[in-house]
Amino acid sequence: MISSPSSIGKLVAESGISKREAEMILADVLGLSRASIIANADRKLEASEHRQASAMIARRQAGEPMAYILGIREFYGHEFIVTPDVLIPRPETEVLVEQALARLALYRTSAIPCVLDLGTGSGAIAVSIAASKPAIRVVATDISSSALAVARQNAERHNVNIRFVESDWFTALPAEKFDLILSNPPYVAHGDPHLTQGDLRFEPPQALTDRAVGQQGLACIRRIIGDAPLHLNDEGWLLFEHGYDQADACRQMLVEGGFTDLVAIPDLAGITRVSGGKFIAERGI
Ligand code: GLN
Repeated sequence: MISSPSSIGKLVAESGISKREAEMILADVLGLSRASIIANADRKLEASEHRQASAMIARRQAGEPMAYILGIREFYGHEFIVTPDVLIPRPETEVLVEQALARLALYRTSAIPCVLDLGTGSGAIAVSIAASKPAIRVVATDISSSALAVARQNAERHNVNIRFVESDWFTALPAEKFDLILSNPPYVAHGDPHLTQGDLRFEPPQALTDRAVGQQGLACIRRIIGDAPLHLNDEGWLLFEHGYDQADACRQMLVEGGFTDLVAIPDLAGITRVSGGKFIAERGI
């Protein structure tokens, strides 16, 4: 337990959490940069500041992720609002954004490609794409209206124009086609012990796992691959994130789904994280 009002330095030292995290919490409470927190270790805390910081430190001690405590997480160079209604954006998902932007860069300037982000959560993927390529059309879905509310706030915060649709994967978009379909779907297997450990304990289960018994976490990915051809323009791309051990199964499903030019891209740790392929519409039928 943290005792009565003290200085910044004393609270950081006695916090029981990492120095960096304690400094981030104090920076948030006091509205200062982390550098000022470090430089002003002797500054006394008001009782209310002390109370507020101590409450946040206690949440961290209980294992709650910093992103939920601060309400913010950086992704692809932008700050995103995050709440427990959405998955916390992760650095490996930046690989998906990079791959998407690399493909969008190949479009002629006269063509306006249309991008769909399925299960957008905080909107991290859709907003990052729209912020880099303001001229393109971006649609983002989520089955959760509370997740969409967060994504809308992030689109506003970054001043980008995205059409948000509440939808169970493609269900609410029956007749629409896109040039690029992206997704970071739930892919942790039902009953995976990781779901009861670390940050994942605090994240929305429906953003993490397909909750399908015996499907190895692949049920949502299977559904996306199965339905994507109905929603892709000729030579359109499907790119999605998956689990560290799912690349082979994803490749197999992409082959069976008729995709070509298959890609499997590693994250910074060298683990294949993003897979996808190109859809060629069959002509003459
Ligand atoms: N990458 C996350 C994790 O395993 C899971 C995210 C997801 O299911 N899309 O921690």
